[in-house]
Amino acid sequence: MDHKQNNLTAQSKYNESVAYSRLTSLVNSMADGVIAVDKNIDIVLFNGAALNILDINNLKEGEQLEKVLKPIDANNQPVDIVNMVHQTTVSTTNRDLRLAYGDGSVSNLYLSIAPVHLGYGKDGEDVGGYVLLLRDITTEKSLEQERDEFISVVSHELRTPITIAEGNISNAQLIADREGDITAIKAALKAAHTQVLFLADMINDLATLSRAERGKLTLEVESINVHDLILELAENYQADAKKRGLSIKTILDPRLELLKSSKLYVREILQNFITNALKYTMKGHVTIRAEQREKGVEISITDTGIGISKADQERLFDKFFRADDVRTRAINGTGLGLYVTMKLAKLTNADINFSSELNKGSTFSIMFPNINVVPRQKS
Ligand code: ADP
Repeated sequence: MDHKQNNLTAQSKYNESVAYSRLTSLVNSMADGVIAVDKNIDIVLFNGAALNILDINNLKEGEQLEKVLKPIDANNQPVDIVNMVHQTTVSTTNRDLRLAYGDGSVSNLYLSIAPVHLGYGKDGEDVGGYVLLLRDITTEKSLEQERDEFISVVSHELRTPITIAEGNISNAQLIADREGDITAIKAALKAAHTQVLFLADMINDLATLSRAERGKLTLEVESINVHDLILELAENYQADAKKRGLSIKTILDPRLELLKSSKLYVREILQNFITNALKYTMKGHVTIRAEQREKGVEISITDTGIGISKADQERLFDKFFRADDVRTRAINGTGLGLYVTMKLAKLTNADINFSSELNKGSTFSIMFPNINVVPRQKS
């Protein structure tokens, strides 16, 4: 080998090593786990993110892939990863695999497998292999699950009132076509109207929920005359209460002062408690009480209704939670009201407390503190 040729070999070796170290730092800087395997499915390259996902400290080059990557399927059955990689002829992705760890926890895995050309062997033959991309998608999966559950609950809840409203409207049409009894038409339209009002309420809840989840709710503090607000709410719900054979009482502290809070949210919170009290009470009354406290106003809504069992009390404010009680199931509801209420309470720094006894009734009380808006400092 002459001097010139020697130099060329050195140069190409140098270039190769620069390219290799560039590749290594590139692969290492990736947030996704990367594992390259040869055609025997033995590991030839990996990065730190892959170690993290596999929850291992180290990996040896030449290690068999199946020793470190042991995915399971949705039914907890082990997946033959070697076979899976071998059968990959075009780049494929899988979002349904999971990894089980030693501490009993499980994560959802995104796995992409792509056949690649890994270079040339000693005799110049094409050395093939595969690159695996691994990502922990546990959070995305649980959000997806929540979204699917949300859609299924909401569509189910929408179906019932729509079916009832539709049935009543077509009934009214039928009676009208036959020039039948006007009172029967009125009754059918009224029943349909009630369902439409329920739908409107539900859509309101959903809209508030979606704004709350996106952190889009803003707080506009104003001085609220709680006395007037409660009388107005009691008046609004009086007809509904009467229809259900119930009465609404108000007990208002004569010392009530103006409350500094968001009128919109205070009203929405109280409306949720009052509608629940009316919905879940078969006989008796609903009492709205307001008392002046040092730091604000405490409002409680007491009913003489079906009450809530101890076990259900723990999950009351969970999204979609509805008591597993035949009496509850017979009443329209989404299980979103109290969840939204809690979000609004947090925004207004209010504290919610409740006590309830099955078949006796419930009291929900909420302490609304005065929100002192600090004027923005000029910078
Ligand atoms: P929804 O009323 O639409 O089901 P909520 O989130 O407002 O949803 O309430 C969740 C559940 O809490 C209800 O389904 C019901 O089981 C229970 N609940 C709420 N308020 C009362 C109440 N005043 N009396 C009895 N049960 C109640």
